Amino acid sequence: MKHISTVGRTKEILEKHHFTFKKSLGQNFLIDSNVIKEVIHKADINENTGVIEVGPGIGSLTEHLAINAKKVLAFEIDQRLIPVLDDTLSAYDNVTVINEDILEANVPARIEEYLSDCDDIVVVANLPYYITTPILMNFLTAHLPISRYYVMMQKEVGERISASPNSKAYGSLSIAIDYYTEAKTVQHVPRTVFMPPPNVDSIIVELKTRSERKVEVDDEDSFFKLTRGAFLHRRKTILNNYQTLFLDGKKKKDEIRALFEAAGIEPVRRGESLSLEDFKKIYDAFKKSDL
Ligand code: SAM
Repeated sequence: MKHISTVGRTKEILEKHHFTFKKSLGQNFLIDSNVIKEVIHKADINENTGVIEVGPGIGSLTEHLAINAKKVLAFEIDQRLIPVLDDTLSAYDNVTVINEDILEANVPARIEEYLSDCDDIVVVANLPYYITTPILMNFLTAHLPISRYYVMMQKEVGERISASPNSKAYGSLSIAIDYYTEAKTVQHVPRTVFMPPPNVDSIIVELKTRSERKVEVDDEDSFFKLTRGAFLHRRKTILNNYQTLFLDGKKKKDEIRALFEAAGIEPVRRGESLSLEDFKKIYDAFKKSDL
């Protein structure tokens, strides 16, 4: 039988199950097996790999993952897709589909339950674009045993993820990603490989979890509060942004200026010019004075 990820089979499945797309859930299904095969090849998935997929849809990507990986654990929020997936993936006994919102799911417990016998755990997903950032940040901040991510997303988000300082796309997301992972763009994906075609361009991003961090931080929440604070208003200096950040009055302007100076960072700089290492200096100075 033809793969799910073809126009003909997708149309057949949608008709059989009277399925209608929900735009609000970011439902754009892959109808091109070549793109999927390329991702699976890049992700180096083999018979020892456990894969986590977010949003299997009707199973286009899931099917190829099931063929190549040891096990697949997929989270799908749309209850209407559960019987569809039961049908389309009935030939594969190594797939578990969980009908949960990925942002609410207890992922560590599910990994323990379903993937603990896999040598290597990888996330592969064509993400629901409206929640790409929270999904990735939830995974990364939870310190899960995931070695790498191959995720399809809106091009602009992918650019922010892998941006370097002094570029337009650089911001607190780039810094958080750089803290946890090594990020790179793997491939651009045209709109034509989806049904229905989305009104944005897409990109596949590779994130490799760092085994050793570039900087050591003992309180990640406070660290990211400071990185986000530097971008409250992109055109403003870090001094002015931190005045807003500490509007609770915990720190006055002079104190903030003195802390930047103690960190060796000019208070008139802008967030977009600061690297992860610069933020570590800022964090060390501010941490000493109680955040
Ligand atoms: N993987 C399929 C494919 O490539 O054809 C579908 C990808 S589609 C871009 C995103 C999928 O994520 C949809 O099936 C949607 O229902 C699901 N989804 C949306 N929000 C979700 C959430 N919060 N948790 C889990 N799945 C979600």
